[in-house]
Amino acid sequence: MTDSIADTVEAELVALSDVLTEPAERECLRCFLLRMLNEFGCDGTHRWSIRWRDLRAPKASRLTRRLSELGGCCDCEVLLNVFPYYPEGNGMLPCAGQPQPGSAAPCDLRALRRTA
Ligand SMILES: [Zn+2]
Ligand SMILES: [Zn+2]
Repeated sequence: MTDSIADTVEAELVALSDVLTEPAERECLRCFLLRMLNEFGCDGTHRWSIRWRDLRAPKASRLTRRLSELGGCCDCEVLLNVFPYYPEGNGMLPCAGQPQPGSAAPCDLRALRRTA
């Protein structure tokens, strides 16, 4: 009995963390990384970039190599060196939407500001 309850709770926790770490439907790589690093931090790998790629740009098999070439050798470096532009103040902004399906280009948060 005890075992099966523990198993159930564990399964629920796994399902929950899956939802928490899932990129939103049109969330761009930059906003996803920002959200994940804010919540869970960087472990020195591309784990969040890879998670985003697997779900949002599965054909971008060279994404992490490309990010490394641009100075992003782990998730936090990707934010620092590959996507350095971010509007100041206001803390985290909602993602303005992946420009194109399968594209790792960041959304245009300035556009979001103009309409806000
Ligand atoms: Zn890092
Ligand atoms: Zn975004």
